[in-house]
Amino acid sequence: MDEQRVRIQEDLRGLVAGEVRCDDVFLQLYASDASIYQIQPLGIVRPRTGADVAACAVYATEHRIPLHARGAGTGLAGESLGQGLILDFSCHMRRIISTAADTVRVQPGIVLERLNAHLRPLGRHFGPDPAMSTVTTMGSVVAIDASGSHWLKYGSARGHVKSLRIVLADGAEMEVGHEPLLHGRSADPDERKRELIDSLAALLSQNAELIAGHQPKSLVNRSGYELPGVLTDEGLNMCRLLVGSEGTLALVTEMTLATAPLPKHRGVALLFFDRLESAARAVSEILQFSPVACDLMDRRHLSLARESDVRYDLLIPAGAEALLLVELEATDALELRERMRLMVDRVRRRKKLAFDARQAFGVDEMELYWRLAAKVVPTLYRLKGSTRALPFVEDVAIPPAALPDFLVEMQNVLKRHQITASLFAHAGHGQLHIRPFLDLADPEHVKKLELLANDLYDAVLAVSGTISGEHGDGLSRTSFVPRQYGELYNVFRDMKRIFDPNNILNPGKVVGDDPDLHTRNLRPRTAPPALAAEVSANGSPLENAEATSAAEVSVVVPPGTPSRQWVELELNWSPAELAEVATDCNGCGACRAQDPGVRMCPIFRFAPAEEASPRAKANLVRGVLSGQLDVATLSTDDFKSVADLCVNCKMCRLECPAGVDIPKLMIEAKANYVAANGLRLDDWLLSRLDLIGTLGGLLSPFANWTIGNRQARWVLDKVLGIAQGRKLPRLATRNFMRRAARRRLTRPTRRSGRKVLYFVDSYANYFDPQLADALIAVMEHNGVAVYVHPDQRQSGMAMVSIGAIEKARRVAQQNVPLLAEAVRQGYSIVTTEPSAALCLTQEYPMLADDDETRLVADNTVDACHYLWQMHLTGKLQLDLKPVNATVGYHQPCHLKALAIGSPGENLLRLIPGLSVTRVERGCSGMAGTYGLRRKNYRNSLRAGWGLISAVRDLGFQAGTTECSACKIQMEQGTTKPTIHPLKLLALAYGMLPEAAALLTARSPELSVT
Ligand SMILES: Cc1cc2nc3c(=O)[nH]c(=O)nc-3n(C[C@H](O)[C@H](O)[C@H](O)COP(=O)(O)OP(=O)(O)OC[C@H]3O[C@@H](n4cnc5c(N)ncnc54)[C@H](O)[C@@H]3O)c2cc1C
Ligand code: SF4
Ligand code: SF4
Repeated sequence: MDEQRVRIQEDLRGLVAGEVRCDDVFLQLYASDASIYQIQPLGIVRPRTGADVAACAVYATEHRIPLHARGAGTGLAGESLGQGLILDFSCHMRRIISTAADTVRVQPGIVLERLNAHLRPLGRHFGPDPAMSTVTTMGSVVAIDASGSHWLKYGSARGHVKSLRIVLADGAEMEVGHEPLLHGRSADPDERKRELIDSLAALLSQNAELIAGHQPKSLVNRSGYELPGVLTDEGLNMCRLLVGSEGTLALVTEMTLATAPLPKHRGVALLFFDRLESAARAVSEILQFSPVACDLMDRRHLSLARESDVRYDLLIPAGAEALLLVELEATDALELRERMRLMVDRVRRRKKLAFDARQAFGVDEMELYWRLAAKVVPTLYRLKGSTRALPFVEDVAIPPAALPDFLVEMQNVLKRHQITASLFAHAGHGQLHIRPFLDLADPEHVKKLELLANDLYDAVLAVSGTISGEHGDGLSRTSFVPRQYGELYNVFRDMKRIFDPNNILNPGKVVGDDPDLHTRNLRPRTAPPALAAEVSANGSPLENAEATSAAEVSVVVPPGTPSRQWVELELNWSPAELAEVATDCNGCGACRAQDPGVRMCPIFRFAPAEEASPRAKANLVRGVLSGQLDVATLSTDDFKSVADLCVNCKMCRLECPAGVDIPKLMIEAKANYVAANGLRLDDWLLSRLDLIGTLGGLLSPFANWTIGNRQARWVLDKVLGIAQGRKLPRLATRNFMRRAARRRLTRPTRRSGRKVLYFVDSYANYFDPQLADALIAVMEHNGVAVYVHPDQRQSGMAMVSIGAIEKARRVAQQNVPLLAEAVRQGYSIVTTEPSAALCLTQEYPMLADDDETRLVADNTVDACHYLWQMHLTGKLQLDLKPVNATVGYHQPCHLKALAIGSPGENLLRLIPGLSVTRVERGCSGMAGTYGLRRKNYRNSLRAGWGLISAVRDLGFQAGTTECSACKIQMEQGTTKPTIHPLKLLALAYGMLPEAAALLTARSPELSVT
């Protein structure tokens, strides 16, 4: 850290209760958002109170340091980026302060979806619906004047803000709303506020004509400051002015928002067109039926939708070139259906514009239709290659009547510059999201982007549209604002001077002097790293990055882009692939989601701070590859503390719209840390469950006494960091491998027919041999011979997850030859632990690139999946006895990551009498051995609380899941057992009488008849 940053950090830590970080790692985390820009700030403050914000403003003014407010950092125009201090409101200032009948008072960091989850049971919600509602914060919704598909009903945020508590650039705090004026002047008792209002009123009244004469005619406008309607005969509407000002006039610390009743009856129609122009022409017809939403998708979106989900393939007719999604609402269900029928009929039959249509009135079907917009649009990010769908001219809006002609003009402009682009539009209100496919690493493409913006904006202004209808000016559009507003731009300048004379608040946005702002600070291209071994003789990294990207994956890097050194790649991938993954993250922030509808990062979910987000990990690696961070950062504790916030659950990789493999990036980075610093004792210990199991097994009475004894647990907690409060499983007196040897299962079978090799892994072996017994019994009952190779070791998943790659590789090198040989002899490999299946199928190929590893990966399956496949081909015995019980099923993350559906749950549903309820409460929070550690214990419980309480409180007799770590969590704080689906299956087959007795003893309601 340089001297200035050290001083600022120390000064501010003395002034605010929130956190202050000025280290390299944190600066990199906050240097980007969802836009195409990257700017390193000076420091990060996470205020806890309005007083913290005011203290920062005073300090910033004294030292002439810019202040940039930030919420989730999902802005598409770089609105929250800057060289000064970032104020991150999303971390601590996210409370709902009070709720009244039709208003709610909140802090700015609350996420829109969380607010709506709070309001829904009251039959209300916040109306405007920006697409990223699961992550976007209300401070930003207000600062951007956000809106979404339902603008036709709710308009934008501006119409829903009652009052704001703000901090001015000089630190003054005040509540503002609709301010009364007497003879054009304020009579407010607060002198600072009075001065401010009087200056504003004077400026607005002097320029009333200019303001009225320089407004776009589009229904929406988010460029410049909102001046019309601020000064009226009734007074001065401060909220109207401040909403949409992008944090350039004041910082918002609290807000009172109007809430709206939830709609009564809704219906959604999909209208299909064979020409984009027909869809555009249909919009004016549809508007006559008072839709609440009318969105348009082009051909590219439709083909992505077809590829993403077979249901869309069936839904979208061949030949569809464009689609309109229309939502209608009514208080009467019959009236709704009739209006929908008339609307569809007019567009299809009478006007002959659409060639096909679908209608939905049920919640699930409407949800499926809406997912087209919410989920498919972001999959544009998945498209690989060096060109990306860029947010830059993505936010133009025009009067809806101009839409048909404008689309033709837009296509002409694109053709002229030989650029392809995707189009998604809120067509009902003329808002167009156009994303050209360009490569920012190519200076020619950057030029094209600029030329495209010039021509497109000319076309927009020619029809009295606006360069921004939703996302704001930020870095992308501020330099075009004078072109849109002409003389009125000077009034914007005066407005900024009144609020912020020293230009402290988010300077350069909305008003600014830099004509090239939009092409400065573009995110640097990440070149594939030169490895330490490839550093040239004189010690400097190789000059030309292309020389290092010898791998098949081609990352196109302009000649001359300097290659960064990386210590050594520990995983089996090329420098080019590493760079490609890091670049794939576009910063959209979808991985900050915390709503129950997604599994996204369990760690971020309970500790919602930027460093916990998956995006943070990509940003750090990209920082190293682009030279923003020194490669030595990888071996620092600051870096390790961020990397440790990834527990390798794989959920982000599954749900990220761009499919970025964050866990792989983190395994690589952790491996570099371990290579430089070695393994810490607690990491080492928890990666050696096999050793603990073997030693503990030898002394099992003592080990089990230790597990149950408070004093002994206190020692374990203090010395080894294993949380004292965690309910630990007891060690088996005799491990399964020894039992298997006695039962001669460790000899290859001589039987013909189906045969499996059981890969036991640690938990079943040392802690739950009964599970292994259940597997053998079920397999044998179904005519499948089971072989347990005596030399198999643990899978090594825990080692992979902590970056102990060399150790994991040695384990894999022992397992792979014997498993591969078994495959060659006709065995399938089955596991009862999803992590083990994941390790063999996905992690081993990251450790070694050879035929045997691939053979093992291709022939390993989860045991329940194996049995379910037998059932699908009619080979599974169905002589199942009723099990009279109700169980709650939890699907583990690693099973989800295998992408095999839910075979264990499916098998349970075959058991007569057994009532199975899926518990959708997200990740269990155990994340392998993460939840065993003292330092993580509380967070782990917080993350898994939904699941724990569901098992405890809902009417289940038992929980059920495949994963041993999830089982530990589900049994925390309850005497109800959590049982592997295979054990329940064995129970239903009438097997394992010992196990049956044990299970029913622990859960007397569970009975087999
Ligand atoms: C895939 C995708 C889809 C999107 N769809 C939409 C959409 O449908 N509609 C839409 O409107 N936007 C959309 N956006 C843009 C973006 O998500 C929204 O603008 C959102 O409101 C930004 O929220 P945030 O919390 O991430 O804000 P940030 O990006 O962190 O900040 C946005 C602005 O708000 C200011 N700000 C934040 N907090 C405060 C505060 N307390 N006081 C003063 N200023 C503050 C910041 O300084 C900045 O200028 C989309 C973005 C993505 C990536
Ligand atoms: S990791 Fe994926 S979801 Fe997260 S910001 Fe990057 S692209 Fe978006
Ligand atoms: S793998 Fe899991 S823990 Fe790691 S970043 Fe992704 S979601 Fe978070």
